[in-house]
Amino acid sequence: MTHIAFIGLGRMGGPMAANLAKAGREVRGFDLDPRLRGEAEPLGVQAMGSALAAAQGAAAIVTMLPAGEAVLGVWREVLACVDRPTLFIDCSTIDIASARLAHRLAQDAGHPSVDAPVSGGVAGATAGTLTFMCGGEDSAFEKARGLLADMGQRVIHCGEGGLGQAAKICNNMMLGATMIATCEAFALAERLGLSDRTLFDVASVSSGQSWSLTHYCPAPGILPTSPANADYRPGFMAALMLKDLGLAQAAAESVGLETPLAALAARIYALYVERGEGESDFSGVIRMIREGLPE
Ligand code: NAD
Repeated sequence: MTHIAFIGLGRMGGPMAANLAKAGREVRGFDLDPRLRGEAEPLGVQAMGSALAAAQGAAAIVTMLPAGEAVLGVWREVLACVDRPTLFIDCSTIDIASARLAHRLAQDAGHPSVDAPVSGGVAGATAGTLTFMCGGEDSAFEKARGLLADMGQRVIHCGEGGLGQAAKICNNMMLGATMIATCEAFALAERLGLSDRTLFDVASVSSGQSWSLTHYCPAPGILPTSPANADYRPGFMAALMLKDLGLAQAAAESVGLETPLAALAARIYALYVERGEGESDFSGVIRMIREGLPE
């Protein structure tokens, strides 16, 4: 059996690689951080000394990295040395231009490729319940589907290369805006003397309903599982929401579309991160809204 190479063993990539191993696949992993390489070993991932060493002879190469630059760097390094057709899958959230370039590089070298960003966060990566949004040719998607299913619950083909990233960016643009709107509604209700519980009971069965409200309520004491009940420990870090809103703004600009609400959401998350809250959960922005935005 040929192995899977997994590059980027961080908060998401670590548990994802472990789930591939748990599903019976041979996994060779690499991360720049030696501590993470060490932590992957007991989870069934063979730690290698470089991305290239992990990729040599692999059936598929999965990347889970912070940004487009890192993905392109690793793909370029590996593409130059892989001599038989190998499936390239990038699960990172990156800008659409880099995603398209990565596909082009793989295609030019004769390899199938899929962009497959995820929704579900660290909890979903650990539980193996991620949603994958995939872009790439039908044949590449079919090759990737089984492998992705070992790490998640839903694997959706969104269209050609780059459209997985498009789906992810559009989804998180809605999430960022609905979370802020939900936080503002709770802050207003509190000032008006309406309890958090009553607003939740009404809005969760009315037209103000959203995932931000019913699955991730930003007010504490309503949903036991929401980060609001754990002093806004993530969850989904505010810095990552800011990153995704930045990607959405860049994408909108690239096609000449104005998205004023998402632009404002990005500005609000930038202010929140500037306050030193980048590592707290994105729903914690309710605290800044209650206090008032800085000038
Ligand atoms: P992370 O910072 O924990 O992990 C990224 C890892 O990549 C780090 O361990 C880093 O050392 C490694 N790395 C960077 N450059 C490298 C290189 N050239 N070679 C090898 N390793 C390299 O980040 P994360 O939270 O795991 O996020 C990874 C990706 O998943 C990001 O694109 C992020 O936007 C996306 N994402 C994260 C979440 C989340 O909740 N954390 C949810 C959905 C999507």
